[in-house]
Amino acid sequence: MRRILVVGAGQAGLHLALGLLRNGYDVTVVSNRTPEEIRDGRVTSSQAMFGTALGHERALGLDLWSGECPPIEGIQFAMAGPDGPALHWAARLDTPARSVDQRLKMPAWMAEVERLGGKIVIQDAGVDDLEDYAAQYDLVLVAAGKGPISSLFERDAPRSPYRAPQRALALTYVNGLAPRPEYSAVCFNVVPGVGEYFVFPALTATGPCEIMVFEGVPGGPMDCWADVSTPAEHLARSRWVLETFLPWEAERCADVELTDEGGVLSGRFTPVVRRPVATLPSGAAVLGVADVVVLNDPITGQGANNAAKCAASYLESILERGGRPFDAAWMAQVFERYWQDAKHATTWTNALLAPPPPHVVDILGAADRLPEVASRFVNGFDDPSDFAGWFLDPAGTAEYLARAERDAA
Ligand SMILES: Cc1cc2nc3c(=O)[nH]c(=O)nc-3n(C[C@H](O)[C@H](O)[C@H](O)COP(=O)(O)OP(=O)(O)OC[C@H]3O[C@@H](n4cnc5c(N)ncnc54)[C@H](O)[C@@H]3O)c2cc1C
Repeated sequence: MRRILVVGAGQAGLHLALGLLRNGYDVTVVSNRTPEEIRDGRVTSSQAMFGTALGHERALGLDLWSGECPPIEGIQFAMAGPDGPALHWAARLDTPARSVDQRLKMPAWMAEVERLGGKIVIQDAGVDDLEDYAAQYDLVLVAAGKGPISSLFERDAPRSPYRAPQRALALTYVNGLAPRPEYSAVCFNVVPGVGEYFVFPALTATGPCEIMVFEGVPGGPMDCWADVSTPAEHLARSRWVLETFLPWEAERCADVELTDEGGVLSGRFTPVVRRPVATLPSGAAVLGVADVVVLNDPITGQGANNAAKCAASYLESILERGGRPFDAAWMAQVFERYWQDAKHATTWTNALLAPPPPHVVDILGAADRLPEVASRFVNGFDDPSDFAGWFLDPAGTAEYLARAERDAA
């Protein structure tokens, strides 16, 4: 029985650990937080996950909340103009998305690891611990998210266009937000030059809720969280942003209250792609997973999706490896296989952080008139590889929009 150790009990680490356990591996997960600390702590994400990523979870029997978690049936787009939304359209997702608070999900998955015979070790793993584990286990995977240990993995400069955070981020989990009348959706709002705001239904420990996500351009008026010191002030600041920049969204929030004192978060980080293999001082190699190696801004809601896709891809590579050694050359191949998919989400996410070029403005305008364009855009959140042929390609966009106009005529 091959022995595998995973550092990090998050979206990717636990998904992969559970997949390995189901395939007969001896698995240990190292977590720097106990299940109780995760459950009683602060929110970490808005974790909206689309059809493909949810399918990977379902395939391993990890979809424990589909009955209780409200579906997200579509995506609505609005661009703020001087007198209200300048653009305002929506389309349905082919498969509903869902968001289960990681404070609910990770403790349940940790219990599942133990139920399947895996071991959970509570420890903030450092380099010396990785050395010990590399000596004892056939494979050490580092799925520590944004934890400082990820700096062991070198920045991959050609794949990392940014050197600084591109958005000031904030989350506000609330109850009492007026639902969208037609069908549930991620309501994605852009305030040009100021930032983005999106809001959608989710499941938290107390039941269904809505999650507000703020993405402020650094130094701009939505980069406004530094002086907020209590959850009540955070909620008040969230309302101020909406009343100031997005009055149609503020109207939905007349009766909102926080789900709990831990339902708020603010911060920022630099998007980065890292080299997948870190070599420890002893010469032992460890393999980075998900956010450790591909860390994108949440503007497109891809991180948890990528974490699930990464776990599924790595699981397949490990199973295919059979009894052969998990050496550094193999680790690099495992990552490249995942990157062939993740590069699309990364390129698209990085593109959305910059002001939109003319062909993207054309797409957003066309989606207002042409349901086919709106539908294709919305379903790209599930499979961003589709954007390579149009959103990320001005000539491909012109060709596609001309065809869509003709088809609609
Ligand atoms: C504001 C915000 C909103 C987001 N919204 C979305 C969204 O809507 N949709 C989406 O798909 N993604 C979203 N994301 C991103 C998503 O949450 C992450 O990409 C995803 O959780 C990454 O999974 P992971 O397993 O790599 O890391 P994580 O889920 O962060 O797990 C890492 C775990 O490792 C632990 N750890 C760290 N260091 C150590 C150590 N040294 N020893 C032991 N344990 C350690 C951490 O405590 C943590 O439990 C959002 C992120 C943010 C910040």
